[in-house]
Amino acid sequence: MIPYGRQEITDADIEAVIGVLKSDYLTQGPKVPEFEKSVTDYCKVKHGIAVNSATSALHVACLALGVGEGDMVWTSPITFVASANCARFCGADIDFVDIDPKTYNMCPVALEKKLKQAAIDKRLPKVVIPVHLTGQSCEMKALKELSDQYDFAIIEDACHAIGGCYNGLPIGNCKYSDITVFSFHPVKIITTAEGGMAVTNSNHLAASMQLARSHGITRDSEKFEGSSDGAWYYQQICLGYNYRMTDMQAALGISQIRRLSEVIKLRHSVAKRYNTLLSEMPILLPYQDPNNYSAFHLYVIRIDDCNLARREVVFDYLRDCGIGVNVHYIPVHTQPYYKKLGFKSGDFPHAEDYYTNAISIPMYHHLKNEDQDHIVASLIKVVENTEQ
Ligand SMILES: *Cc1c(COP(=O)(O)O)cnc(C)c1O
Repeated sequence: MIPYGRQEITDADIEAVIGVLKSDYLTQGPKVPEFEKSVTDYCKVKHGIAVNSATSALHVACLALGVGEGDMVWTSPITFVASANCARFCGADIDFVDIDPKTYNMCPVALEKKLKQAAIDKRLPKVVIPVHLTGQSCEMKALKELSDQYDFAIIEDACHAIGGCYNGLPIGNCKYSDITVFSFHPVKIITTAEGGMAVTNSNHLAASMQLARSHGITRDSEKFEGSSDGAWYYQQICLGYNYRMTDMQAALGISQIRRLSEVIKLRHSVAKRYNTLLSEMPILLPYQDPNNYSAFHLYVIRIDDCNLARREVVFDYLRDCGIGVNVHYIPVHTQPYYKKLGFKSGDFPHAEDYYTNAISIPMYHHLKNEDQDHIVASLIKVVENTEQ
């Protein structure tokens, strides 16, 4: 099966991990801060807090921003469930903002409209979590202006987007947000097996996320209540978790990020080749905003005049051809857990419309031309055969 996304592990990656296995520290050693520095250097941002998943990064980001019971967090309905769940971990309420039908990202116009109503209802969000779907940034400038006007914080869910740029700046530089979150799950752009990172320019948010990552414990005597008992001493000053990344994972990340720019370039050539090979088909290809340089985590197509039933035929046919297509994503508000909280089908029409005919076809930087040709040929065949 040609998967929809796949990691690449080189000999250098393997050597890097073995190096840690033979060293003194499997966790809490030098590799985690070194990986944090390689990510913050790449993204031109001040602080990086490596954790064991992007889900944990979203959680500590919400905690650092003070999200708690009675607060409201908004995100996009077209995302992985973790973008919404992080608010629920903190006991906050969640709501969604419909997508832009062209980019599939959170729509700034829909956001402004919802904010105006929320201001009247006195139910403004504390945090908004835009998601850079497929690796293309949201319109962060517009979102940042709204955040200044309506006084909410922004966490960028950039799980798809490390290595991409927005307005010429690397995604993750936090010019238009408080915190940006990355995932290093194997299906994403670069991997640490499991892993994530939260980056920020704020000293106090960084300190707060560092505490939340490791039990709320500090060894910094300046943060102590009272004085230190001795060199062994630490204090737990808040409630935290064990969300730490290991040094083995960090070493893999350091090795992987060295080829990030190259990986993104290759993803663009795969996308370009799809664009050419599919240009004559009744298929909507991924729209690229001119201010964006996507990381191209996903290549999402939408088949013209397609409904759920036809999409299923196309999808099953491609799977039968050994092509690991997928759908990103089922609108979060239609998940049973969220329906129980009061959401229903029809709440976010653009998101639901997108869901009826979107298909992610394989996209990774080492996708072979012959595999891509097989994907395209199979796709053309099934689209033509199912035309209504
Ligand atoms: C993958 C992903 C996550 C969760 O990442 P993990 O590292 O698996 O916890 C969150 N949000 C989005 C948009 C993702 O794609």
